[in-house]
Amino acid sequence: MPELPEVEATRQSFADGIAGARIVSAWLGKPLRWPLGVPVAELAGRTVRSVRRRGKYLLLDLDRGLLLLHLGMSGSLSFATVLPARGPHDHFELATTRGLLRLNDPRRFGAVVWAAGEDDPVARKLLGSLGVEPLSDAFDVLSFHAQLKSRKAAIKQVLLAGELVVGVGNIYASEALFLAGIHPTTRASRISLARATRLHAAVRDVLARAVQKGGSTLRDFSNAFGESGYFQLEAMVYDRAGQPCRVCGGAVRRIVQGQRATYYCPACQK
Ligand SMILES: [Zn+2]
Repeated sequence: MPELPEVEATRQSFADGIAGARIVSAWLGKPLRWPLGVPVAELAGRTVRSVRRRGKYLLLDLDRGLLLLHLGMSGSLSFATVLPARGPHDHFELATTRGLLRLNDPRRFGAVVWAAGEDDPVARKLLGSLGVEPLSDAFDVLSFHAQLKSRKAAIKQVLLAGELVVGVGNIYASEALFLAGIHPTTRASRISLARATRLHAAVRDVLARAVQKGGSTLRDFSNAFGESGYFQLEAMVYDRAGQPCRVCGGAVRRIVQGQRATYYCPACQK
């Protein structure tokens, strides 16, 4: 599943290229997770001003309204002046003066939704409950710690829920907790300010490095140029059950929390 770094890597791979492009025509194939909300033909003639990201949503700012694009479980975008003929899993396409933007999504949990603006009820429903952006100044150590204090669930679950901070998906939660030396089953409310400070730094570090590496290829992810990410090659614990910890040499363990696999080092994480 594309997580925040993959979505950000996707954004960076085509944002500059499409900025200023006029939409010549738009095409919608099989239904996606949610309806577009306007007749697809109405997108023609609009100009794409910029591409932003909020959580795992890409926001294409148009000269009137915006498109919210989600990659779901298996979505990926291509942006190029020429693309091969559409295949059975291509479900949305914008032909613009600067190239074709195409969404491929075999499982169709992705979505393209039009909204009049970010205050539009449709946009608020999708974006309104998202936690702060981990790589922005809004992600503040003291408020992060204060919010952890009010959660009794395991820290791994609290990170995954995305209510305190968005984008810490399954891979990145295991990695950040390893870097911070925090056992994944620790109750969030019991984490001291010193440990919360380490975790805050670890979340930022892991996500920033993952964006830089172009995301992870664990789910056959590639960006809008068809390039794969390399993040998983340097994972400290994720998907390394039984292998030696890269710090202490002890065996990495795998447990299941909320039906998701968690990897950790019992010696390095307390
Ligand atoms: Zn270790």
